Amino acid sequence: ERLIGIRKHNCNPMTMKVTYYKKPVFINQGYMQWLWDVDGRRYLDFFAGVVTVSVGHCHPKVTEAAENQLRRLWHTSAIYIYPQMQEYAEKLTTLLPEPLKVVYFVNSGSEANDLAVLMARLHTGNFDILTLRGSYHGGSPQATGLTSNAIYKYPVPSSMGCHNTMCPDVFRGLWGGSQCRDSPVQSIRECSCSPGQCQANDKYIDQLKEMFDTTVPRRIAAFFGEPIQGVGGAIQYPKNYLKETYQLVRERGGICIADEVQTGFGRTGSHFWGFQGHSVIPDMVTMAKGIGNGFPMGALVTTAEIASSFAKGIHYNTFGGNPLACAIASSVLDTIKEDRTQENSANVGTYLMMELAKLRNKYEIIGDVRGKGLQIGVEMVRDKASRDPLPSQDMIQIFEDIKDMGVLIGKGGLYGQTFRIKPPMCITKDDADFFLAVFNQAVLNHMQ
Ligand code: PMP
Repeated sequence: ERLIGIRKHNCNPMTMKVTYYKKPVFINQGYMQWLWDVDGRRYLDFFAGVVTVSVGHCHPKVTEAAENQLRRLWHTSAIYIYPQMQEYAEKLTTLLPEPLKVVYFVNSGSEANDLAVLMARLHTGNFDILTLRGSYHGGSPQATGLTSNAIYKYPVPSSMGCHNTMCPDVFRGLWGGSQCRDSPVQSIRECSCSPGQCQANDKYIDQLKEMFDTTVPRRIAAFFGEPIQGVGGAIQYPKNYLKETYQLVRERGGICIADEVQTGFGRTGSHFWGFQGHSVIPDMVTMAKGIGNGFPMGALVTTAEIASSFAKGIHYNTFGGNPLACAIASSVLDTIKEDRTQENSANVGTYLMMELAKLRNKYEIIGDVRGKGLQIGVEMVRDKASRDPLPSQDMIQIFEDIKDMGVLIGKGGLYGQTFRIKPPMCITKDDADFFLAVFNQAVLNHMQ
């Protein structure tokens, strides 16, 4: 109440009754894109439990698969094989290009990335790991070393050897602290020029090479990159940036790891995996969140060659890929196909982006709209000229207002200045319209 105050507004764009919620939301139930709190109030979920509920809360098909498996077998531990694990590994790897064919099961994104660090170091014999500014790779002591955002860092040496290198944020123009704002934002991300023919894009690539020459160790174990940054605020890299980075990493003996924890399973719409939008093939892919539609599950997929370097040790994870997790994850894959979830992500995502871009053109405090499919970021600014982040109390006010109007969204970015729009991929165009009307109203309320 202190943050949002009591404001007079007729915020009913879709004739929904407005209620001011003055206490934390206690969620009690969910179905597809909807959540209900303990008092029976309904919310449209546009954050999917932090980008995790991929096909819909309690999706009937996935729930049925879970119920069937619950009656058959819950757990044996990772020392036994069971058909659910084998079937799922086969299903998952058919979705990945050669030579990514060996699967390791874990329970979360952090565990997948921890394992990736270990495997990369064992395979290459090198120690140093590169990640990008703005990245989030997990909350374990090792994974927080990979994560760049200072608020997630521990003052402990467990993250030794992890270097958070610069990442061009095309909108903010931040590169090594210098401002560079002379090119239209969209043209750099989506420009169709060939490499070497686009001044704006080439500048980023030149800076990347310069950074490698001047700051990156001669031998490295790995590079981690999210195809589109999630927690970082839907940061998209300039075109060819990831491809060039992969080349530079491999020249230094490192392997390239795509963290698909947020971008996998069709979320970006145009591709099943985010890395496919960058014309690269990673040496390792880590995944979690959407894989289990909310059931704890994670995996790492790599090449037989890298797996063989690891075979000398033991990968033991009590719950990793247990029968229940595999049955659920398998049903999630079937559902993505049957419900045409990825296609929906592309269609509704494109519509949302177009409509949000109209709001960006209309309002001074909406600085940038970016992303792909249903992985969208809306960056809020004090004003378009300065591009200074909208102060956090204003962000919270808008965020709470949106919640009060019945929509749950996320927040991210290095300054907490970006709204994250990442709903379950089953949302409809009507849901998108409802969200747009609510968002529009919340921005208007803020300006009053
Ligand atoms: N990688 C990315 C890109 C993530 O967004 C997250 C979680 N937000 C993780 C890794 C860590 O996943 P988990 O919370 O399941 O450990």
